[in-house]
Amino acid sequence: MTVHSVVIVGGGIAGVSTAAALRAGGFDGDVTLVDAGEFPYDRPPLSKDYLAGRVDLKSIALQLPQWYDDHRVRLISQTSVDELRTDLGAVELSDGTTLPADKVVLATGGRPARPPVDGVTNPGIHVLRTADDADRLRVALASRARILIVGAGLIGAEVASTARQLGCEVVIADPVAAPLASAFSPDVATWLHGMHERHGATTVSAAIQSLDVAGGSISTVLAGCDQPQVFDVVLLAVGMAPETSLAQTGGLRVGRGGIAVDAGQVTSNPAVLAVGDAAHRHIDGVPTGRGEHWEAAQQDGQRAAATILGAAPPGDTASWFWTDRYGAHVEVVGRLNDTDQLVPRGQLGQPPFSVFAVNGRHVVGAVSVDDSTAVRAARRMIDHAVEVDTAELSDPTTDLRRLLRRRSVEEVK
Ligand SMILES: Cc1cc2nc3c(=O)[nH]c(=O)nc-3n(C[C@H](O)[C@H](O)[C@H](O)COP(=O)(O)OP(=O)(O)OC[C@H]3O[C@@H](n4cnc5c(N)ncnc54)[C@H](O)[C@@H]3O)c2cc1C
Repeated sequence: MTVHSVVIVGGGIAGVSTAAALRAGGFDGDVTLVDAGEFPYDRPPLSKDYLAGRVDLKSIALQLPQWYDDHRVRLISQTSVDELRTDLGAVELSDGTTLPADKVVLATGGRPARPPVDGVTNPGIHVLRTADDADRLRVALASRARILIVGAGLIGAEVASTARQLGCEVVIADPVAAPLASAFSPDVATWLHGMHERHGATTVSAAIQSLDVAGGSISTVLAGCDQPQVFDVVLLAVGMAPETSLAQTGGLRVGRGGIAVDAGQVTSNPAVLAVGDAAHRHIDGVPTGRGEHWEAAQQDGQRAAATILGAAPPGDTASWFWTDRYGAHVEVVGRLNDTDQLVPRGQLGQPPFSVFAVNGRHVVGAVSVDDSTAVRAARRMIDHAVEVDTAELSDPTTDLRRLLRRRSVEEVK
């Protein structure tokens, strides 16, 4: 069937990259992007420069306003898609209009998860997913507040760092002693978590048991502590839940990990694709881990566009993400768990340094702090299954780019 119209639901990086890749791939039909927000903007700055007040919303727009006209992408903002009418080849908008859609791409992202504790839905309790959330949190932090951050994952750690920069008193609580150990490797995770205390925040290894909001402050009980503690601000940063309501009411297959999609991002309904944080890929029927990172969402969009165009999908590359805390730039490629060997390069704790995960003679992952070159090299090693010598890898004087060039010459021979 020839595709004349595509409606993309959600203007995050996954939705916008779907639109861009459709046009880049030569799609000539109608492309409509419907988003509930003011305009499509980038999310990573929300816990960093945007929260700190160093950049405004316009400067984190995913595309300039002109881009939509130039690429013939019809942007419908501040409107949500309320219903999938795949029986009619259409979607229904919150303003009552119906848009024709030969293909629908669900790029609905996610919402912050909340732990099963009384009081977590109280309006005084913060979460962070949207610019509005960040605006509210910035106002609450402005008076150098005492903040409890529940969850020391990526977003919790970034907000702790920003709140310290803003002069706040920060307590960050997580029942796990070294959060994200499987993503960063245990030693790097311990060092990164230790940054909080080194920068004047207090870390507590405990889960919250209750939250009681009264008179502008929040009283909370942490597991193992008898006395309640009082905070001006509480942020829940315990992960996200994929936004699947539209998919569910539309009768699509949805699991706990999100909207089930195949290797080409197609859902259980061939007219509907799903991308980004909302989607959960299944390869040969087996669920794979969900990315929940910026680049994974962008690549999903490119893959969905290729499927719609009937083109070859972009090749899979090792997964990559970054995070920033207290001025340190951390990048992770591939995986650092379940490997034969962890090979440090440089002195752990003294950036720049990296740790490579090696299986046999192959790199399968790397984490770096202030060492982007190492992560870029590791990615090429993973993608091209380059054989490595761990002694060479761990020697900080080895030029990794030269090592890669030498290996490709050896392979050609
Ligand atoms: C605070 C924060 C910091 C982050 N930092 C990093 C980082 O440093 N590095 C990194 O790799 N990743 C980071 N991430 C993760 C990354 O931003 C996400 O993985 C990425 O934004 C997912 O993109 P998405 O397009 O799938 O979803 P989203 O960005 O959530 O976009 C979904 C959009 O869909 C809209 N929508 C939902 N339902 C409807 C509907 N029915 N109708 C119309 N519109 C709808 C929503 O309003 C939203 O605009 C961060 C995320 C957050 C929240």
